[in-house]
Amino acid sequence: MRYVSSRGEAAELGFADVLLAGLANDGGLYVPATWPALPDLTGLHGYADIAAAVMAPYVAPDLSVETLSALCHDAYAAFRHPAVVPLVQIDERQWLLELFHGPTLAFKDVALQVVGRMFDHVLAERGRRVTIVGATSGDTGSAAIDGVKNCENVDIVILYPAGRTSDVQRRQMTTVDSHNVHTIAIEGNFDDCQDLVKAMFGDAAFRDELQLSAVNSINWARVLAQIVYYVSASTTFAEAPTFCVPTGNFGNVLSGWIARRNGAPIHDFIVASNSNDILTRFINDADMSTRDVIPTLSPSMDIQVSSNFERLLFEMNRRDGGLTAEQLGRFRATGQLHLEADQRADFIDGKFRAAKFDDQQTLDEIGRVYTATGLLIDPHTATATAAARALGGDRQVITLSTAHPAKFPDAVERATGVRPRLPAHLSDLFERPERTSTLPNDLAQVQGFVRSVARVIA
Ligand SMILES: *Cc1c(COP(=O)(O)O)cnc(C)c1O
Repeated sequence: MRYVSSRGEAAELGFADVLLAGLANDGGLYVPATWPALPDLTGLHGYADIAAAVMAPYVAPDLSVETLSALCHDAYAAFRHPAVVPLVQIDERQWLLELFHGPTLAFKDVALQVVGRMFDHVLAERGRRVTIVGATSGDTGSAAIDGVKNCENVDIVILYPAGRTSDVQRRQMTTVDSHNVHTIAIEGNFDDCQDLVKAMFGDAAFRDELQLSAVNSINWARVLAQIVYYVSASTTFAEAPTFCVPTGNFGNVLSGWIARRNGAPIHDFIVASNSNDILTRFINDADMSTRDVIPTLSPSMDIQVSSNFERLLFEMNRRDGGLTAEQLGRFRATGQLHLEADQRADFIDGKFRAAKFDDQQTLDEIGRVYTATGLLIDPHTATATAAARALGGDRQVITLSTAHPAKFPDAVERATGVRPRLPAHLSDLFERPERTSTLPNDLAQVQGFVRSVARVIA
């Protein structure tokens, strides 16, 4: 399999290079040069085996089928449910696909547990090391850290805003006892952290010296690993279901679109937003215009520019990278993205529906689901169960449950009066010693820290 950039200028690469590169050097996102059909899954039952079969055509020839299968088995053994991603029925037509049984209790584990292992494998084969740097406001940092904490060839440094993450989120990062894991509390906000990371990548000499790498949500391997659960869940239904997806960067629902594109029996998608509703406005009213980010109870969806949308845009532009680059340039300059009527007809109408819910509606929905089913759901999931109920109709609807309720205990308690408890493997999280460093919002000091902990091979 070869990969091309959505902006049409970067060289084609194979899977292993795409994995390590993240962003293409023309600023675009990598997509497969051709879309392979889904493999025959008859006789496969375990999630790891299905994952290996679904991903195999995308990673050949860089990862052999045996290697991929071993990495998947190892990754999904870290999950606390035998089904890895269990389907739970909540009424006659509504289902939850629980994606939060991984080590850090959010759906990002499903991809990052396997992506971390892919990194280590490819780097070992090439005799290389990398330094992963990233900024987090919460979920992504802990999932990335857990995904690479046992990797021999990776050091990871995660920046987070001091005093601005939840206690659970911070402790999930700072209590990991691995020699290759480092966290920095930056005296600033999340944007400051992101700017520091961008500046480190923008410093070419520093980037090369430390072999900087990233595992952010635009990394193709993350999108790839998420295709699997759409395939495994949809193929258990007699009639093609609808998927309802709580959405921020558009990564998760893009994986669903790819599964459908390649033949998975999926009827359509409902995109759920919180008050940051650019995607809902786009799907319902053809209005893709950015506004200020509003902080909500579902912080992982507090996003105004959904970076993975670029991959769908590239398809809508019939894979014209020049046109895609031009459109995105205009979007950055004006805050407005315009599509042609035929593009909407072919790619949006009948395939995507959308709804938004504010914080009060989210709390009401958590309370309603608890009363009706006895289940506690987190605020991200609640935007989606609300959307599924509003737009569901007669079909079976599978709502992706993206975080464990105990990651957001305050909101859940406010809505239900019940404080969700951390699962057994994290029950001593508040007793574990924390290890972190606090630094001012100063690029030179942060670079000095990264240099002091990274063990790159010169
Ligand atoms: C990251 C995240 C999302 C949003 O996923 P995208 O791929 O960015 O659309 C939703 N819910 C939770 C809990 C998350 O951590």
